[in-house]
Amino acid sequence: MSRKNRILTLKKAKDAIILAHNYQRPEIQDIADIVGDSYELSREASRTSSSIIVFCGVQFMAETAKILNPEKKVLIPVRDAMCPLADHLTPEMIDAAKKRHPGAPVVLYINSTAACKAHADVICTSANAVKVVKSLPETEVIVGPDANLAAYIQGMVPDKKIIPIPPGGHCYVHDCFSKEDLDAARAQGGTIICHPECRTEIQQGSDVVASTGGMIRVVHEHEDVRTWNILTEREMGYRLKKLYPDHTFNVREDAICKDMKKTTLAHLQSSLEKEQFEVIVSPDIMEKARSAIERMLVIGR
Ligand code: SF4
Repeated sequence: MSRKNRILTLKKAKDAIILAHNYQRPEIQDIADIVGDSYELSREASRTSSSIIVFCGVQFMAETAKILNPEKKVLIPVRDAMCPLADHLTPEMIDAAKKRHPGAPVVLYINSTAACKAHADVICTSANAVKVVKSLPETEVIVGPDANLAAYIQGMVPDKKIIPIPPGGHCYVHDCFSKEDLDAARAQGGTIICHPECRTEIQQGSDVVASTGGMIRVVHEHEDVRTWNILTEREMGYRLKKLYPDHTFNVREDAICKDMKKTTLAHLQSSLEKEQFEVIVSPDIMEKARSAIERMLVIGR
């Protein structure tokens, strides 16, 4: 039996669902039940009736699925698939910011650890960050851990003061895009679409700024545009090309999230066979983090 068939048989036998982020390897995307961005996957995780959730992504995503499904077994195929951006922020940094800005709510990007989420008032994704911040009555809002996303929110919500924590927090994959990439994209023609984790000058030089889920919607809404320059992780080009095979999606081949690429079909098979590696979140962190995530799910996109 091929590895692919073995995985599909195991999945059925164990009543499992496979969720995969848009940045996963093509073969993982191909075998997943649902492929999406952090928001879409966290929403699906909260709705699934399957007994086991196998999360092909990085640790904070699997933690989020576990927080939303405390009674289910959540597995991550590679234990050390981490997000350096998420790991850059600590609960102590959040507490220090709260002391410096009393009364300011804490909005944390979903790319944060469960321990940090437990210190937040509400979670956001790049898809709904503006909506979440706008929904708050306070005029001063602490936002972490991505300073580029915080700057994007600031531009979209000028009547509030956004306080980024930690200063300069960034995703190394998105922060690599430069003016030269914009120039190269302009020279190739087509529309430039970048992720809000890119630097402010890249956001300003692009035609559209959108989350990965938002990129799919934008392409869908502009069927007449056939060439797109995608300034995010490389595998988003695979995802889009699969959905829109007649379109051209230019990506930067070296814009790779190393941790997202750790998961292979062999890891996925082992994960299902041995039911490893189970994601465990302590009950006190789980409860506090869940209330911040659920607040986001209520506000929605
Ligand atoms: S692409 Fe960036 S933000 Fe996303 S998981 Fe990788 S390091 Fe973290």
